[in-house]
Amino acid sequence: MDHFLYRDGALFAEDVPVTEIAAAVGTPFYVYSTATLLRHYHLFDEALAGTEHLVCYAMKAAGNMAILRTLAQAGAGMDVVSQGEYLRARAAGVPGDKIVFSGVGKTEEEMRVALEGGIRQFNVESEPEMEALSRVAQSLGKVAPITIRVNPDVDARTHAKIATGKSENKFGIPISRAREVYAMAAALPGLEIVGIDVHIGSQLTELEPFEQAYGKVAELTEALRADGHTIGRLDLGGGLGIPYTRSNAAPPLPTDYGAMIKRTLGHLGCEIEIEPGRLIAGNAGLLVSSVIYVKNGEGRDFLILDAAMNDLIRPAMYDAHHDIIPVIEPVPGAEQHPYDVVGPVCESGDTFARQRDLPELASGDLVAFRSAGAYGAVMSSEYNARPLIPEVLVNGDQFAVIRRRPSFDEMMNRDTIPSWL
Ligand SMILES: *Cc1c(COP(=O)(O)O)cnc(C)c1O
Repeated sequence: MDHFLYRDGALFAEDVPVTEIAAAVGTPFYVYSTATLLRHYHLFDEALAGTEHLVCYAMKAAGNMAILRTLAQAGAGMDVVSQGEYLRARAAGVPGDKIVFSGVGKTEEEMRVALEGGIRQFNVESEPEMEALSRVAQSLGKVAPITIRVNPDVDARTHAKIATGKSENKFGIPISRAREVYAMAAALPGLEIVGIDVHIGSQLTELEPFEQAYGKVAELTEALRADGHTIGRLDLGGGLGIPYTRSNAAPPLPTDYGAMIKRTLGHLGCEIEIEPGRLIAGNAGLLVSSVIYVKNGEGRDFLILDAAMNDLIRPAMYDAHHDIIPVIEPVPGAEQHPYDVVGPVCESGDTFARQRDLPELASGDLVAFRSAGAYGAVMSSEYNARPLIPEVLVNGDQFAVIRRRPSFDEMMNRDTIPSWL
C-alpha cells in the first residue's frame, strides 16, 4: 500500500499534487511519502511484537538524510554497509547501539570509525575479516560485538544479481563450516560473539526460502550453544519483496513474515533483528519525469523521457518492471497505445519498458514510475553529465526538497585541471 493516488483527475503524493512539485522543482525528480515509509516500518515492528526485536532499515535502499531521520525518529535501527552509510546514520540521529554493520569487505578504517563511534554489532563475513576486526578492536582497547554471517545454501528464487544465499555467492561463510569458524572467533581476544546473521537475497516473493534458511539457523543456534557460545541475537537480514506490478500476485506481507519468524525461531528465546530495505522504501517513492518527444519509429512509437538509466538503473540492471502512470489521470476507457519508453542516454540499455500500453501522451506530459523508492536515487549517476536529480519528501500537505539538483558549475568544479594543461 502507498500514498500515491489519483484525486480529482490528478496524481497526489499524500495531500500534495504531483504537478505542484513538478512546477516547483522541475523534472525529473524523486518524491517520497513519509506516511508510506512509516507505515511499512511499523508493519515490520508490529509483526515482531511480543518478541524482543529491532528493525534495522537497510539504508542502502534509500539513504537520504531526511528519510533516515524520519525512520530514526520512529525508532528504527539501521543496517549499514560502508563508512559513508555509518556516518550518515549517525548524523541522522541513529544511536550507535542501533546500527549493525554488514558487508563483505569492511576495511580497517571502517571498523575503527564504527568502534569509536559506537556500534551494535558487526556482521562478519570471513576469517580474515574476523582477524582484522579483532586486531583493530584491541588496538583501541575495545571488544567488538559480532555475529558471523552464514551462507545457508538455499535458493532465494530471485534475480541472479540479488541472490546472496547460495554457496556460489560471495557472501558469508558456508553454514557447514560455521562451528569451526565460531570456535576461531571465540579464540580471538578482540571479539565478542553475540549471535548469528543470515541474509539470502532481495526481492523474495515467497516465504519458503526464508523459512528454509531460518530452519538451518535454528539448528545452528542449538549446535553453537552446545559448543559453549552465547547466541542471544539472530539477525535475519532483509529481502522481503514488494509488488512491482498491480497485476501480479502480491508477495507475502510483513505480518506473515513475522509469524513465520516466531514459528521457526521463537523457541530459542533470541532477540530478533531484521534488515528490510526495499519493503520500507520501494513503494514509498515515485520517479516523476516529463515526455520530451514522442517519436514515431518503424512499427513502434518511442516515448522519450527526460529521465534516463542514470536516474533509475533497475530496468537496465535487473530487467526490472516499473509501472508507469500518467500524472493526469486518463479518462475512463481512454484508448491504450503501446510505447517503448526510453531515456535520452546514448545506450540501447536506456530503455525503461518495451511496448508498454499507456494512454496517448504528448510532449510535456508528466509520467510517474511507481515503486521507485528503493535502489533508485541511491544507484543514480551523472553519466552523460546529467545532474543527479532532486529528491523531495512529502508529509501530509507539506513537501520539501531533501536533495537539490546540483548546478552544472558545481559538477564541473569537482574536476581539477592539472598544472601542465
Ligand atoms: C541489501 C541488504 C539488505 C536489504 O535487502 P532488501 O531486499 O532491500 O530488503 C539487508 N541486509 C543485507 C546484508 C543486505 O545486503
